[in-house]
Amino acid sequence: MERALVDEFIELVSIDAESGCEAEIAARVMSKLRDIGLDVEMDDAGAKFGGNAGNVIARAGEGDPIILCAHLDRVKPGKGIKPVVDNGIIRSSGDTVLAADDISGVVAILAGLREAKKHRPLPAVEVIFTVSEETRLQGSKHLDYTRLHSKMAYIFDASSPVGTVVTSSPTHVGFDVNVVGQAAHAAVNPEDGVSAIRAAAFAISKLPFGWVDDHTTTNVGVLNGGAATNIVCDSVRFKGEIRSLIASRASELANEFTGTIISEAKAHGTEAEVITAVDYSGYSIDRNAPVVARVVEALRRIGITATFESTMGGSDGNIFNANGISSIVLGTGCQLVHSTREFLPVPELVASARLVESLLAV
Ligand SMILES: [Zn+2]
Repeated sequence: MERALVDEFIELVSIDAESGCEAEIAARVMSKLRDIGLDVEMDDAGAKFGGNAGNVIARAGEGDPIILCAHLDRVKPGKGIKPVVDNGIIRSSGDTVLAADDISGVVAILAGLREAKKHRPLPAVEVIFTVSEETRLQGSKHLDYTRLHSKMAYIFDASSPVGTVVTSSPTHVGFDVNVVGQAAHAAVNPEDGVSAIRAAAFAISKLPFGWVDDHTTTNVGVLNGGAATNIVCDSVRFKGEIRSLIASRASELANEFTGTIISEAKAHGTEAEVITAVDYSGYSIDRNAPVVARVVEALRRIGITATFESTMGGSDGNIFNANGISSIVLGTGCQLVHSTREFLPVPELVASARLVESLLAV
């Protein structure tokens, strides 16, 4: 099993599949799913946001299904990946990511389905391989949830050891700010100008950065403005985010930030327009929920004790939960994801596949 898992992992990461460009890898996994014996289709999510492929949805079995989910896309630099297996660890050759985030999940699901099928017909299952997860969860946001029958989902997409069960994730609110001042020549008549840069700087300096409390982070991560040093800048745009495990805290802060930015901008002679939007909602799954009990039992059967975590990251799990499917995110053992140092221990890949098989047997 180990050799086959590594081979399939290498096969799939070697297919270029940055976000929005998943057509080739989607076709490959669709044919693999058909070979295993599932009914497979692709939805039209890609067409809705400009990607070249939709989400892959596959089904098998009779009865109450569960969802097994992973995403097909990867972050940049994710083209031309040449994986190296050394001493039981798979790495990239150093100039790209490895794409273990999230091909480790894809391979574990495929292998687990094959193993499960060796012993008996596949139980009721819905497999969802999403596209463009890394670009603001676009695939899962455009999924048609009325077509799914599962009440619970396992998302194989946490960069923690196998056995990690992520039961809570934050609400993410984005804010996008335009500060408008008055342009003038910076040396001829500066007294006629009102600098948007100066006003934006005052506003930003009043916002907290990083951990606001144990459950909440904030950041301004994008700032653009100005054309030349001899012009009093009349327009600045900056963008930021608030994440909190407590949804009301995120919206409270969004209101507070909006007020602060508008009043600081005004105090420095400019006007600010602030747009805030919930990018995704958070969730917190009870440790006694059926979705948790099933994975804890599945882990126990393969000799692993579940470890519970909450994350400050978002995943397809946020979108599934918001659409009424009780979902948790599981560790696949990949580490240092979103970097060229990303790696995956082979035993973790094996454990993930066994977990999939075990989840189907519980
Ligand atoms: Zn991921």
